[in-house]
Amino acid sequence: MSLDDFIPFHRASITDAERSAVLEVLDSGWLTMGPKVAEFEDAFAEFVGVSHAVALNSGTAALHLAFEGLGIGPGDEVIVPTYTFAASAETVVYTGATPVLVDVDPATCNIDPESAAAAASSTTRAIEVVHVGGLPAELDRVSASLESAALSLGIGPPPLVEDAAHAFPTRISDLGGRFAGTIGRAGAYSFYATKTITTGEGGMLVTNDDTLADRARSMRLHGISRDAWKRYTSSGSWYYEITDPGFKDNLTDLAAALGLVQLARADELHMSRAEIARQYLGGLSDLASQGRLILPPPGSGDEHSWHLFMVRIGPGARPRDSVDESLPGVGVLPESLRAIASRRARVVEELRSAGIGTSVHFIPLHLHPLYARLGYRPGQLPAAEAAYAATVTLPIWPGMTSGHVDRVVAALARATQ
Ligand SMILES: *Cc1c(COP(=O)(O)O)cnc(C)c1O
Repeated sequence: MSLDDFIPFHRASITDAERSAVLEVLDSGWLTMGPKVAEFEDAFAEFVGVSHAVALNSGTAALHLAFEGLGIGPGDEVIVPTYTFAASAETVVYTGATPVLVDVDPATCNIDPESAAAAASSTTRAIEVVHVGGLPAELDRVSASLESAALSLGIGPPPLVEDAAHAFPTRISDLGGRFAGTIGRAGAYSFYATKTITTGEGGMLVTNDDTLADRARSMRLHGISRDAWKRYTSSGSWYYEITDPGFKDNLTDLAAALGLVQLARADELHMSRAEIARQYLGGLSDLASQGRLILPPPGSGDEHSWHLFMVRIGPGARPRDSVDESLPGVGVLPESLRAIASRRARVVEELRSAGIGTSVHFIPLHLHPLYARLGYRPGQLPAAEAAYAATVTLPIWPGMTSGHVDRVVAALARATQ
């Protein structure tokens, strides 16, 4: 199907510059981690303004190595917002620690500072925030409430880890325009295919903590001494020492070459996302004022990365027919949310029939069987559940035309009558 028939949820923006950068690496004879990875790390660190950027094969690996490098392990707890993707909490589980899931702000879906503070205990070792969709979480308030909770528990303030998978490039106006992902002790970016810049699969751990960066550089490649990748170069040595049971998380030069070009295009890609968001906000404003849709908070200034454009079915879009428990995502929710969740499932179907790909961000973690096993139950984190029940994520990608946006707006108008 062509883009005239089907508007996909996402489509990566790849130009001749990416194509020739990858070909150049293929022709160089050096495919895995090497000079291009080093170049990508330097350019990324410079772009966001940190001392260390460690390139990895996923954003998941970046989160994992952040927790691992902070020494988090069995018996420890990490506070994690429930409104996020699998990786945010699974990476805590990898270390043997326990993720403690907390509720989110009902409007932004970002971690709620009070819920986070209430979840602190004497074994809290870190707090993770997710900048959902690319809108910055309230880092100041989160840190302040955690600090006072830690003080009354008699523990040190737990380090902040930012899951910035959605938040490149998000500049936080309250923090002098610094980049989301660079405020906490560690930040994790993702270059997964649907993210704002991509290497197909890839991620970046950023930090200003030298020890954490050194540890991540070793642990990404089997826990062997630092420049082990050089052992096959003319300047390298065959000798290495294994110091820890590390992982295989390194990025390839092929991916880094792609990343360098995408990074150079970051502002252009961001501007085109922001323009599509602007068109959606304008085009959907009537539906919003009629209560048929709830639009995403736009953030202040141009701070939103607009990785995701999440709308919610509003109370004005009345369920046309009965609750259908067999529709996806309905049965798992508390009774009171099943009507809106049924309606949402039907809207997703109607958009699909109109040739529009959508997604739903996110099924709160605590509703999944993995976390039910830890004792979480529907009804426990109500703001996240209410947001989830009504949410549909619309296509937003550089290269979408205003014609595409108009088609999405028209289809939503029909689907929310
Ligand atoms: C995509 C994503 C990740 C993980 O990134 P990968 O590169 O796919 O491993 C982590 N957290 C969130 C919120 C994400 O959306």
